[in-house]
Amino acid sequence: MRVLVTGGAGFLGSHLCGRLLGEGHSVIALDNLFTGTKRNISALLGHRDFELIRHDVVNPILLEVDWIFNFACPASPVHYQNNPVKTVKTSVMGTLHMLGLAKRVGARILQASTSEVYGDPAVHPQTESYWGNVNPVGPRSCYDEGKRVAETLMTDYHQQNGVDTRIVRIFNTYGPRMTVGDGRVVSNFIVQALRGEPLTVYGDGSQTRSFCYVDDLVDGVMRLMAWEGDTCHDPVNVGCPVESTIAELVERIGRVMGRRLEVVRRPLPKDDPVRRCPDISRAERHLGWSPKVELDTGLAKTVAYFESVLKGGQGDGGEG
Ligand code: NAD
Ligand code: UDP
Repeated sequence: MRVLVTGGAGFLGSHLCGRLLGEGHSVIALDNLFTGTKRNISALLGHRDFELIRHDVVNPILLEVDWIFNFACPASPVHYQNNPVKTVKTSVMGTLHMLGLAKRVGARILQASTSEVYGDPAVHPQTESYWGNVNPVGPRSCYDEGKRVAETLMTDYHQQNGVDTRIVRIFNTYGPRMTVGDGRVVSNFIVQALRGEPLTVYGDGSQTRSFCYVDDLVDGVMRLMAWEGDTCHDPVNVGCPVESTIAELVERIGRVMGRRLEVVRRPLPKDDPVRRCPDISRAERHLGWSPKVELDTGLAKTVAYFESVLKGGQGDGGEG
């Protein structure tokens, strides 16, 4: 397959590119390098079947491809709130342009959606049939609502134009190649711990998330792209069904690193979801997928990566 990965120089996109090349596909990574880096794909740049195009998805592009993974969009609250209008444009216009491309060349397209479409959920765990509880005018809206419109566009292009679509709702994923300044909780805590700084716990740390290791996530995404069942165009949750409080995450990282970690409390950001945990029965049933990597194992790999990066090395960036 000739495969286009938008956001291909980012955290998830770079692992996906590595996996696709490993399976013998020819890969174009398209990225504006806002939060992604060439370092993430440095091991791939010499590969004869790999190409990087520096391009912003808010502008259309003409390419000949068979598969499109639309991953371009800043994912950390710090980054997506930095320029919220641009975040909306990236999700809405970016998805529109990728769907236009898919329609023109007859490509299959997978949209990286998010657990944030459930907002601050009132249903636990979250099933795909839950419509969510999203504030349309809050600090997270640019991301949440942008991704919700992207899902709508995917569904309408499928129904109206017959485009072959897939939608994955990704829950909090972590691992090597998150950036040091990413701002999300796992990278923040590990970098702070390695620097001997106190860990910044927002609020009282009782809010929950469910953390999935990147290799598991990429595996779920690949299985969804290959699925051709009756309901394959409907959204699928991919994430870890083990819920953990942020306070428990501090303990975990301390155990994995063999240190007692100091904590400093910071205010809980507005609209920060209180609980989040996926119901993955749809992925289990249709994709035969469930996460395999234990949290301690994934955290140890991520600690090793950031240790190397902070020492000035490249970090091995995981297997992808
Ligand atoms: P990331 O910030 O590392 O990657 C995003 C990539 O998109 C970066 O390389 C960035 O430079 C690129 N990009 C941003 N705006 C762009 C634009 N306008 N044009 C071209 N490229 C652009 O984040 P990530 O964690 O790898 O997330 C990748 C995708 O997965 C995003 O769509 C995100 O919403 C989704 N997602 C991730 C998670 C997670 O936990 N990692 C959870 C839910 C959804
Ligand atoms: N968080 C925290 N300290 C940090 C970064 C995040 O306590 O340094 C909390 C944040 O308030 C949220 C959870 O960790 O409740 C996950 O935050 P992240 O930004 O990783 O992802 P998201 O909120 O988008 O799920």
